[in-house]
Amino acid sequence: MRPLFSSSSVFFSFIAHKLLYLFQCRVCCFEQREEMTNQNVVVSDEESAIITLTLTNSSLFSPAVTKPVAIPGGYVTISRKKLLNKLGGGGGEGTKINAWVDSMRASSPTRKSAPALTLSSETEDQKSWILHHPSALSMFVEIMNASKGKQIVMFLDYDGTLSPIVEDPDRAFMSKEMRETVRDVAKYFPTAVVSGRCRDKVYSFIGLSELYYAGSHGMDIKGPTTGHKYKKGNQSVLCQPAREFLPMINEVYKALLEETKSIPGATVENNKFCISVHFRCVDEKKWDALAEQVRSVLKDYPKLRLTQGRKVLEVRPTIKWDKGKALEFLLKSLGYANSSNVFPIFIGDDRTDEDGFKVLRKRGQGIGILVSKVPKETNASYSLQEPSEVMYFLQRLVEWKRSLLSRH
Ligand SMILES: [Mg+2]
Repeated sequence: MRPLFSSSSVFFSFIAHKLLYLFQCRVCCFEQREEMTNQNVVVSDEESAIITLTLTNSSLFSPAVTKPVAIPGGYVTISRKKLLNKLGGGGGEGTKINAWVDSMRASSPTRKSAPALTLSSETEDQKSWILHHPSALSMFVEIMNASKGKQIVMFLDYDGTLSPIVEDPDRAFMSKEMRETVRDVAKYFPTAVVSGRCRDKVYSFIGLSELYYAGSHGMDIKGPTTGHKYKKGNQSVLCQPAREFLPMINEVYKALLEETKSIPGATVENNKFCISVHFRCVDEKKWDALAEQVRSVLKDYPKLRLTQGRKVLEVRPTIKWDKGKALEFLLKSLGYANSSNVFPIFIGDDRTDEDGFKVLRKRGQGIGILVSKVPKETNASYSLQEPSEVMYFLQRLVEWKRSLLSRH
């Protein structure tokens, strides 16, 4: 009979290999476990956060993870501070806008796939990102266990979260099934829709009077008109911190309409307390020109600022108010300002939703879920790929609550 190992050195080599393999598995499991246990812990630090960029993509924002993962030849790491300096410094506002346009190009869903050479590193990129931002569906049980004994409060973005991103922003309708799902969610949990859109517009898409609506990135908040069970006292919730900016916003809206009419497909949307300039239907070759037009109008209005979303530039008052502030305001209105018995869940797909994710990290409460098919730099703890997955997550949430209630 032939011996299993031809010599003792082969035997020791085999044992060493197996031990190394077991050690790697332990390290991998430990890292995953560590990530899971840290989901609700405050870890965000503007100065020290590390951003990982893949060398295969031209975008500064698109494929990034919040912790560097050592994959040979795949990444360079730079600090967030250096990245922000790179965006804001040197060329000033113009440089920043150019970087935004590049970012929009890179994250465009219609963009052709990268050449075959980059595919394997993109797959690795995806894997490492998912490791740090696991699917909220696969982690559903763990999330629900973390929420036990606490009041879940739902915060939902609209475009790209409850409805698909479509070419014509006026036709971003949500499905009937999604509407029914959100209606069910609101039966069991206080539920707010937090959108960059005008509050009336987002209400016209959703049509559920039992929800809180925070339009214009949270600058226009109104409580439910029916189903008042979560409302404090008899006062209806209303918050409009940027009221004084209304005349200026209207003036800029008219100027932007005039300035951008030479670019086919450019649309300017008046969201009452902010303005959206949509790039969705504009030829990519014209994006730089459109961004420059927006910048030229804005230079006369120092009290307004520009932010970037998915294929959109947004004009907003310079006041310190965003989706994160809206979240805090709503939690306070619901009586959870300083409570530890609350578990807010914020689901969104856009850069503007990061303000909500950041607040949750800072409070050490609840979770943020980013809706994205591609790796992105984010403060969210979990991910979902698209609105259909959001709907499935919400349906599981309702089922979980129903089964919990049926046991009591
Ligand atoms: Mg969105």
